[in-house]
Amino acid sequence: MSSVLVLGSANADLVVEVSRRPGGGETVLGGDTAVLPGGKGANTAVAAARVGASVDLLGAVGSDQHGALLRDSLTSSGVGTAFVRTSDRPTGIAYITVTPDGENAIVVAPGANGDVAPSDVDAVPPAGFAVLVCSLEVPVPTVEHAVAWAARHGIRPVLNLSPVAELSAGTLALLDPLIVNEHEAAQLAPTFEALLDLGPRSAVVTLGARGAAVVTPDGLTEVPAPAVTPVDTTGAGDAFAGALAARLAGGDDLVAAAGYAARVAATSVTKAGAQPSYPLAADVLPAEV
Ligand code: ADP
Repeated sequence: MSSVLVLGSANADLVVEVSRRPGGGETVLGGDTAVLPGGKGANTAVAAARVGASVDLLGAVGSDQHGALLRDSLTSSGVGTAFVRTSDRPTGIAYITVTPDGENAIVVAPGANGDVAPSDVDAVPPAGFAVLVCSLEVPVPTVEHAVAWAARHGIRPVLNLSPVAELSAGTLALLDPLIVNEHEAAQLAPTFEALLDLGPRSAVVTLGARGAAVVTPDGLTEVPAPAVTPVDTTGAGDAFAGALAARLAGGDDLVAAAGYAARVAATSVTKAGAQPSYPLAADVLPAEV
């Protein structure tokens, strides 16, 4: 079966509710800590697996309880962990405070994610993978190495430029597509069409409640997201990237894959959390609800 390789981070999300954020030198008491599986790579892999793709994560965790939590959550969603290395560094952690207005403030300690190396890419047998999807909470040189590795082996490289990082022209030229959200797109180019001037073969801009725009040399196509009442948009972009990769690996063209991804991501915003909100294929909302 054609399958998806996800290169990216796996983090334990430590979430605490606070009445307000402390200033420098100050202490505030919060609620109980929730420990949740997260990280853009792990989220993307879980989203792709839930909608039916065969998926492996390429990344690293520490030999600690957070690493065990992440391996368990990946395995229980059907994501292969043979290429998740156990590093000497601690598992990545996102320290998340949530205030009553619903706003998050996040510090990420990359830990083992900072240790994912080009040699980890070279250790993956390329046979059987149709699509590589990367995000940028792992070192840029590793991502660039992986994109070139994929292209060399006939694997379609997809990259979610989140968080924004500087990539070489050679890497950008291989992407099909480059995925960004509206804010990232505005930082990169004056129009969505002009994203192609950076070099990618195609680009997809996610537009929140408005769905997504697909840009190819043939022009721009908008795909809608079903209208939903959002509960929690955490991880929506990762759900989109994972579902898009799953459908590309399944043989969809880019517009069809983006339309499906917009439905999967919209379904995910109707539930709390990132990974726990990702739907199985049977539960993905139709285009019109
Ligand atoms: P990010 O979370 O990376 O900023 P977006 O906000 O563009 O990205 O959301 C990614 C995708 O999630 C959108 O393309 C859409 O499919 C879905 N989505 C996000 N917010 C909503 C919403 N309010 N209603 C419906 N779908 C949404």
